[in-house]
Amino acid sequence: MPTHLLIKRDGARFLPSNTELTKGKMNKIGWGIMHAVLRWLAKRRIMGYFYEGEAVILALHRVCHTPSLLGPSFCISPTELVRILNNLRHEGFLFISLDRLIQALHAQIPLRRAVVITIDDGYEDFINEAYLIFQRFGVPFTLYLVSGFVRGELFPWWVGLEILIRERESFTLEGERYISYTITQKKRLFLRLWRLYKKYPPRKACDLIEVAFRREGLATERLYELSLNEDAVKRLAQDPLCTVGAHTSSHFWLPLLDRQTLIAELEENKTYLERLVHKEVLDFAYPYGGKQDIPKGIENLLKEIGYRSAVSLMWSPVYGTHRNFLFYLPRRVVSPSLSAHDLCRSHFTRIFPFL
Ligand SMILES: [Zn+2]
Repeated sequence: MPTHLLIKRDGARFLPSNTELTKGKMNKIGWGIMHAVLRWLAKRRIMGYFYEGEAVILALHRVCHTPSLLGPSFCISPTELVRILNNLRHEGFLFISLDRLIQALHAQIPLRRAVVITIDDGYEDFINEAYLIFQRFGVPFTLYLVSGFVRGELFPWWVGLEILIRERESFTLEGERYISYTITQKKRLFLRLWRLYKKYPPRKACDLIEVAFRREGLATERLYELSLNEDAVKRLAQDPLCTVGAHTSSHFWLPLLDRQTLIAELEENKTYLERLVHKEVLDFAYPYGGKQDIPKGIENLLKEIGYRSAVSLMWSPVYGTHRNFLFYLPRRVVSPSLSAHDLCRSHFTRIFPFL
């Protein structure tokens, strides 16, 4: 794939995205038509060869029996996970570790239908659900962990918020009374508050949820038991299937941070996890993972601190060209609708990677 077709942006380099790379070369209508044609072509089975990336990185959050208000992309059932893994294997996908993917990209070794499994945040239900399935299938996985969660100082406040909304028809947060009865109202309320608190310092969001839990007579200890603890992480890290990755100290929304705090979040997380598992921690996942969640120029900081890769939650297959974009590796969130047929497809192609 010709690298000269990729452009560099000031400060940060992003994936070879369609609009960025064709800006100024094609008018909007022309691009719209081309885009529609390529999307249509991408769905044709016969075009698979041209559209497939070399690998895909899948992102999981929770694997549990209770559906999440955040939707199926945040929590899938163990049965769904087994079905997806079985389908991928049946379609000829090969499960490889993140380490192997990065080595192959560096060495320019072409891969075909490779899948890398990653899990963000490290929820305590991982051990009893997803881990058992990965062991059964022999699937390598990377766990991106937040130091504050593992140490039990913080908790994934969004799961606390979800419990609060699910278990109470009304509650007070920051002096505001919220009411929701139906599942649709609860989903809407959850998304509204999630968007608001995502930009709060995590400590403050945790404190607010804790106060509301106490006021509503809910046990706050539950909140600190939502994440994998140090013992569980140490045990998992001994498994050759497991790679431990970093996910910041406190799961801040990174664009809000000044440089000093950003460095502290990235450095502390790496050092803490390395001491805990007695292994190098080289890979990073951006909290929230969207393009707007990634500060410009962070690639240089990550390199200076000693990371070798970072994953986003922007979707594209991984192409050989991503060896130049190791700090913006794309991922696909696993949801029950994930099919093997469209997994490696997008409107990027190996012939027109710049579109
Ligand atoms: Zn996260």
